[in-house]
Amino acid sequence: MNSWRPDFPILKRTVNGKPLIYFDNANTAQKPQVVIDAVDQFYCQHNANVARAVHLLSEEATAMYERARERIASWIGAAAPREIVLTSGTTMAINLVAHSFLRPRLREGDEILITAMEHHANIVPWQLLCAATGAKLVVAPIFDDGTLDIDALEDLISPRTKLVAVTHVSNVLGTINPIARIAQETRARGVPLLVDGSQALPHFKVDVQALGCDFYCFTGHKLFAPTGTGVLWARYETLDSMSPWIGGGEMIDAVSFERTIYAPPPRRFEAGTPNIAGFIGLGAAIEYLAAQDFQAIHTLEQALLAQLLEGLRGLGGVRFIGQSKERVSVVSFTLDGAHATDVAMLLDLAGIAVRSGQHCAHPLMQRFGIHATLRASLAFYNTPEEVAGFVAALAQCRAML
Ligand code: PMP
Repeated sequence: MNSWRPDFPILKRTVNGKPLIYFDNANTAQKPQVVIDAVDQFYCQHNANVARAVHLLSEEATAMYERARERIASWIGAAAPREIVLTSGTTMAINLVAHSFLRPRLREGDEILITAMEHHANIVPWQLLCAATGAKLVVAPIFDDGTLDIDALEDLISPRTKLVAVTHVSNVLGTINPIARIAQETRARGVPLLVDGSQALPHFKVDVQALGCDFYCFTGHKLFAPTGTGVLWARYETLDSMSPWIGGGEMIDAVSFERTIYAPPPRRFEAGTPNIAGFIGLGAAIEYLAAQDFQAIHTLEQALLAQLLEGLRGLGGVRFIGQSKERVSVVSFTLDGAHATDVAMLLDLAGIAVRSGQHCAHPLMQRFGIHATLRASLAFYNTPEEVAGFVAALAQCRAML
């Protein structure tokens, strides 16, 4: 019996009369009861706005909200909670770096270096900046097995490069990129490095200082926490060198019609009322994760991954998109003669949730010359029985198509 499974109430439900097999974790992960309870308890007992009023509820809400920030900081190895900017997700965190950090430093002819395996969230914000400034987006290639061509990436770093932005783990290929090595190179060249950690943290522990990057972004809903929560980490000096992007309440120290004095980070980047309950839920998710044995999670996920790959190979006619040795339990593939969305709809009838399509990575699909994949993405609450059920259901779909 998987010991984590009972912690996630939704896994008990049925879908189309069948027990749910949830293999869409890279899209969004399920929430443990402790997270649901934390959100519920906040609304039932403590609901108030943060950092504004002097009444008890507001003080309680503020303390809970700031406690979540502290938990996030220590979970990812930040030097202090003030290095944690709370955002609505990875997308907002990356856009914040684009506007507050890079834009004032970017001139016509400068370059932003990304990789061919990025999610649109780590492509489009840079394209918008390039369009506004005349800078150029440069893309490091990947090999056919879905690993990054790291030598090519290093060769593409030039005196014009003003930022390197790389995903830690690909949401399509499952590839884990060698961030510490990339960071060594970017630091030696004095180029800042942004890492999109959205797909990494649900699978392994990350220490942002040990990695040596300059910005680390992630999203709470893939980390078993509520939607609308995300994090940007950067060293305090870096954050303090950045101007605000979004203006409004709470990000200021003083306002007059002539001049506004901005608050220090992280408040400078947190205008308006935040997703208070969501971040309290993220704090609870991190407290839950901190109590788990990540070595055991790694062993289980890698065993499920091996079983899944073997099962799919056994079906025949499967093309894997991404076969890196260093990878998480995310598997994208195509089935000969079958459209991914048709298969996903048939799987849904069998109670199985997977994602089909382009996974917000159109350029990566183009790189592999395909229109869509099926993607099974597994979390630590999945089981060998579910993997076997998934492979059997795929065999049936195959027969029907
Ligand atoms: N980067 C990667 C690698 C992702 O997988 C995702 C979510 N699919 C994002 C960024 C964007 O996350 P969000 O939509 O939560 O901002």
